[in-house]
Amino acid sequence: MPKPKLPPAKARVPLLIAELARLYPEHRTALDFRTPLELLVATILSAQCTDVRVNLVTPTLFARYRTAAEFAAADPAELEALLSSINFFRNKAKNVRAACERIVTVHGGEVPATLEDLAALPGVGRKTANVVLGDAFGIPGITVDTHVGRLSRRLGLTKHDDPVKVEYDLMKLVPQAEWTPFCHRVIYHGRQVCHARKPACENCTLAPLCPRIDVVTSSSLQVVTSVGPEPPARARGKKAPTTDSST
Ligand code: SF4
Repeated sequence: MPKPKLPPAKARVPLLIAELARLYPEHRTALDFRTPLELLVATILSAQCTDVRVNLVTPTLFARYRTAAEFAAADPAELEALLSSINFFRNKAKNVRAACERIVTVHGGEVPATLEDLAALPGVGRKTANVVLGDAFGIPGITVDTHVGRLSRRLGLTKHDDPVKVEYDLMKLVPQAEWTPFCHRVIYHGRQVCHARKPACENCTLAPLCPRIDVVTSSSLQVVTSVGPEPPARARGKKAPTTDSST
């Protein structure tokens, strides 16, 4: 599949937004929740774990603990037992209790609605904070998980591996009102088409807009390292780190 010559990212982003919206008209987190607290807890639990598995656990969990105060006062062994089917459950149980303790002592029991306050909670980084802001409070946020980082680089929207730098690059390119839906849709596309190891470029409707930075295809066996005025691509083979521990 030949790699297209493309205009700069700024000119391509509106077209990418439109095509992603056409592909994925629904845009919300796959985690089940009813309140900001439930989304916060579910997002902490989803680190390096599938949303499906988290959704299997949370109905029982949220029936047992209904408030931040109840989570903060949870018996550690009981909480761990409820989370035992989730990876790193001991550490996550500790983080959930510690985050809820801070919510009770510093924020009067209510999940705070600013990036700074959320990111100051134990076990919560910018990624989790932006998920909660966008999906629980309707405040636009750029969530850079492994999919958003990878696709942003392949699409030539950033040259960075550092999630915070990717976040700032996307903030400059994507209109603020689109931040949350754009990230959800990029995550869907990363899961369904633009896989980490073998992106399905031949079946991807973003292909005419995508320079496929660092993507080696069987037909080209060639690495594209720059597009238009974009900065040089990052070194190949490096995995995108995430701000939180989640993927
Ligand atoms: S699948 Fe290929 S063409 Fe589609 S977004 Fe990923 S790298 Fe670009």
